Amino acid sequence: MEPHVFHRDKKPGWIEVICGSMFSGKTEELIRRLKRARIARQQVEIFKPALDNRFAESEVVSHDENAIPSTPVDAAAQILLLAGGADVVGIDEAQFFDAALVEVCERLARDGRRVIVTGLDQDYLGAPFEPIPQLMAVAEYVTKLHAICVVCGAPANHSQRLVRDGHRLLLGAKESYEPRCRRCFDPHGGVSTEAQTSETPTTSAPAPPPSRLV
Ligand code: ZN
Repeated sequence: MEPHVFHRDKKPGWIEVICGSMFSGKTEELIRRLKRARIARQQVEIFKPALDNRFAESEVVSHDENAIPSTPVDAAAQILLLAGGADVVGIDEAQFFDAALVEVCERLARDGRRVIVTGLDQDYLGAPFEPIPQLMAVAEYVTKLHAICVVCGAPANHSQRLVRDGHRLLLGAKESYEPRCRRCFDPHGGVSTEAQTSETPTTSAPAPPPSRLV
């Protein structure tokens, strides 16, 4: 549940996590919360991993192109340096940051800021996707969103990878993933045996920007 009151005097900080599968509306929900804070004249800063350059360099862009300006950062620690006097710190696509993001968010919250983090809670195999599970544990508020299974129409909890690529981080074009429920999810459905034996998660080169990415 999103907290509804910001106690300006006492400056209590907290962490909100918005998680779920791809196509579940995480970024749209982040943007909705940040826009409300801006209307209340709270200072808002938004960060995203520099890795996630599917869209415009300096904007958080949800799939419906509802965009707000953001700052790309290479490492979570940079957020501490760049947060300035922000009352509200938004962090998008948090699964692309390493475990240091957890301490960064906790420090921001201890410093009296509202921290809103979005990210995938599972990878393409259905395994917990760090650091989101750790952030969920320390957060005051967790919102789990669902997409709709393209096979059966049930609430979808998983991101089904449709291409044969065993890398954990694969920036998704629309043709690379689709939302699936637990029954319809097939974690190895689109992945070659050779790719599954790779033990070192590496980052695939992002796809060139076609006109319609997810
Ligand atoms: Zn289904």
